[in-house]
Amino acid sequence: MYLIDSHAHIYLEAFDQDRSEMLNRAVEAGVRRIFMPHIDSLSTERMLLVEDENPDLCYAMMGLHPCSVQQDFEKELLFVENWLSKRKFAAMGEIGIDLYWDKTYEEQQKEAFIQQISMAQKYGLSIVIHSRESLDLTISTVASCVNESLKGVFHCFTGNLSQASQIIEMGFYLGIGGVATFKNGGLEEVLLQTPLEHLIIETDSPYLAPVPYRGKRNEPAYLRQVVQKIAHVKHVSEEDVARQTSRNVDLLYGR
Ligand SMILES: [Zn+2]
Repeated sequence: MYLIDSHAHIYLEAFDQDRSEMLNRAVEAGVRRIFMPHIDSLSTERMLLVEDENPDLCYAMMGLHPCSVQQDFEKELLFVENWLSKRKFAAMGEIGIDLYWDKTYEEQQKEAFIQQISMAQKYGLSIVIHSRESLDLTISTVASCVNESLKGVFHCFTGNLSQASQIIEMGFYLGIGGVATFKNGGLEEVLLQTPLEHLIIETDSPYLAPVPYRGKRNEPAYLRQVVQKIAHVKHVSEEDVARQTSRNVDLLYGR
């Protein structure tokens, strides 16, 4: 099986004790590539080190996470742009709006999101969107910026059918992770109605571990649980899910 984890923070401290064992388990489970979303200037060094140590397996993105948008966000955006001008990244991420943790910087989050969408367009990168408690707002923001060359994914998609179809109409992907395996996840209808051509898969490690690991540390090897769930709901083989979602990631990041 050839799987791609399109979103995993494997450079975080949660993996400092057993990172190479964890990566071996991922490869054994069929995970051939892992894409790492950047958070803020405190994550860069760790992320690039993991990329350096694992060529052809781990790939870095660049972008400012909405939860790291504060008063000084302009400085963080300069940092991001400086890196983008220096080397190639797999995608612009993760970027977006998060109204779950803290609404203090809502306006700044929107501003940072819009500025980063233009950076992505300037550097020809796809965008990886975080939209916790803000899905309608992020969809309308993207819709106002979208042009033919802009591609992206709504990572950790947990919305409804109508939100899913708005995203697909813009030519964007739904990022499906551990939440799909939760009893109360509410994603079965969306999975059933959405063709595999519009889905990519992710773990969001170390967060949101799928059943039966729910509540524990997540890791890329658990992508298999997500594949099983999608295959089961859609009445297709796990091979089909693996093949099509990997092809989709290649189209999205592989430019
Ligand atoms: Zn993330």
